[in-house]
Amino acid sequence: MANPLYDTLFGRHAGKTTPFLHLAGGVTLTHAGFLSRAARFANVLSDLGLRAGDRLAVQIDKSPDALAVYAACAQAGVIFLPLNTAYTADEVSYFVTDSGAAAFVCQPARRDEMAPVAKAAGTQLETLGADGDGSLAARADAAEDSFDTVERSGDDLAAFLYTSGTTGRSKGAMLTQANLLSNAETLADLWQFTAQDVLLHALPIFHTHGLFVATNVTLVAGGAMVFMPKLDIDQMIEHMPHATAMMGVPTFYTRLLDDARFTRDVADNMRLFISGSAPLLAETHVAFEERTGHRILERYGMTETNMNTSNPYEGERRAGTVGFPLPDVELKITDPKTGETLPDGEIGSIEVRGPNVFKGYWQMPEKTAQELREDGFFITGDLGRRDADGYVTIVGRDKDLIISGGYNIYPKEVELLLDDQPGVLESAVIGVPHPDFGESVVAVLVAKKGAELDLAQIASDLGGSLAKFKQPRKLIVLPELPRNTMGKVQKNVLRESYRDLFQ
Ligand code: ATP
Ligand code: MG
Repeated sequence: MANPLYDTLFGRHAGKTTPFLHLAGGVTLTHAGFLSRAARFANVLSDLGLRAGDRLAVQIDKSPDALAVYAACAQAGVIFLPLNTAYTADEVSYFVTDSGAAAFVCQPARRDEMAPVAKAAGTQLETLGADGDGSLAARADAAEDSFDTVERSGDDLAAFLYTSGTTGRSKGAMLTQANLLSNAETLADLWQFTAQDVLLHALPIFHTHGLFVATNVTLVAGGAMVFMPKLDIDQMIEHMPHATAMMGVPTFYTRLLDDARFTRDVADNMRLFISGSAPLLAETHVAFEERTGHRILERYGMTETNMNTSNPYEGERRAGTVGFPLPDVELKITDPKTGETLPDGEIGSIEVRGPNVFKGYWQMPEKTAQELREDGFFITGDLGRRDADGYVTIVGRDKDLIISGGYNIYPKEVELLLDDQPGVLESAVIGVPHPDFGESVVAVLVAKKGAELDLAQIASDLGGSLAKFKQPRKLIVLPELPRNTMGKVQKNVLRESYRDLFQ
C-alpha cells in the first residue's frame, strides 16, 4: 500500500517524539502527537462518508487542528480545499458549490451564516475552531487515533487551491500529489532545510505559500515550525532568537524593519529569510541587509505551479530578480502573440513546465486549454525577461500591461523610477481608458512617513528619463495601495477607481 504524499510528508514521522509545532504558551506538539490527531480526523472524514477523490472544503482559522485536517485529507485520499477566511458567505458559496464539496467545515462563530451556503450546495456542514472547539474537533476527540492510509498514486489529486483572484474570478487549480511532493523535495534541498530547522510560520494556511511551500518543506526536512495564528511583530521578535528560518510576503519584511526592536542580534540565530507572493522592493532588500546582515532570498511561484524560480542559497541573491528556474522546472520567455521563444534580455510571457505544473482548472476546460499548452508549458500570465547570466526578472502581469497609442508600456519600468523619487515609498502604475490613446498611464504614489510629495518636480524628473508615451498623464497620491491578504497590490481596484479620469 502506498500513498506518496502522506508517506513522504507525514508517515515518515510516525512514532517520533521530535517537535513539530511550537505553539503559544510554550506548548509543543510532537510529530507523533500531530499524526495521531490527523488520524482521528481521517476517521471522522471517513465516518462522514468522504472517500478518496471527494472534496473537503474548509474555511477555518489557522490552528494545529486545521493543519491536521490537511494531513487527514492526504491520509484518506480526500482532496483538500482551503478557503481564505476573509471570504464572505456569498463568495464561499461559489467555491463550495463549484467544487462539489462532499463536506464543508466553517468557523464555529459563522455556523448560522454558513448553514444556507451548505444547504444550497447540497453538502453537510461541520465546524472547527482554533482552540480545539467545533463539531469536527468533538468528533475527532471521540475517534480512533489510528487510520489505515488510503492507497493513492502521484497522479491522484491532492488539493484544489483557488487562485487569489487578483486579476479576475478565482480559478480552482487541481494539484496532484506529485505536483506538491516534487516541489517540496526540490525546495527543501535547494534551501538546505534539515531536521534542525525551526521555521517562523506566520502566513495563512489557505494559500500555497503558507500551506505548501512553508509546511511541506518543513515536513519533508523533518524540522519544526513556530506556528503563529497570524503575523504579530511582537511574537515574531520574541521567537526569532530560537528560530532558523522565516518565510514571508514583502509586508512581513517592511513591518519588521519599521520596528526598532528588530536588530541584528534578534536575527543572529537565523540562517535564511525567504520572500515571495508579491514583488519585494529593492529598497527593502537593501535596508534588510543593512539592519541584519542577511540578504533576503526572493522566489517566485503561483497557485497553479507552486514555486518556479528561486534566487540561489549559495551565490548572489540579486535584488529585484526572482533568481533561476528550479532544477526540475523549465522556463522560457515567449512572444505573447506568437508563442515563439524570445532571446535573453527581451520581455515576454513567462512559461513554465515541470512536475510542479497543475492538471488544469476545475471545470474550466476552455480556460485550461488557453493557458496550459499541449506540450505541458503553462502560460503563467506574468511578463518577464531572463538575463544572459540566467536571472529571471518579473516586470508585471500581462493583464497590467498598458497599451497606449499602440505602444507597450511595462508598469514596472515606470514604478522603479517613481520609487526612486524623493519622498516616494511605493507606487503603482496603471492604464486607464483614454479616448485618443486607447489607454493612458496613471501613477498612484504613496509617500514615506511624514514626506510631502512635489508632484510637479516628480513629473519633470520623469520627463528626463522616460519616453513621452511612457510618462504618467496623471500622478495621484494615496495613503496606501489597495492590497489583498497576500500583500498583492490590487491594480484592478485602482483601474476601477480611475476608469473615468479621461472620459
Ligand atoms: P489570480 O490568478 O486569481 O488573478 P493571483 O495570480 O494573484 O490571482 P496567486 O496564485 O496567489 O494568485 O499569485 C501568483 C502571482 O503572484 C504570480 O503570478 C505573480 O504575479 C505573483 N508573484 C508571486 N511571487 C512573486 C514575486 N516574487 N515577485 C513578483 N510577483 C510574484
Ligand atoms: Mg494568477
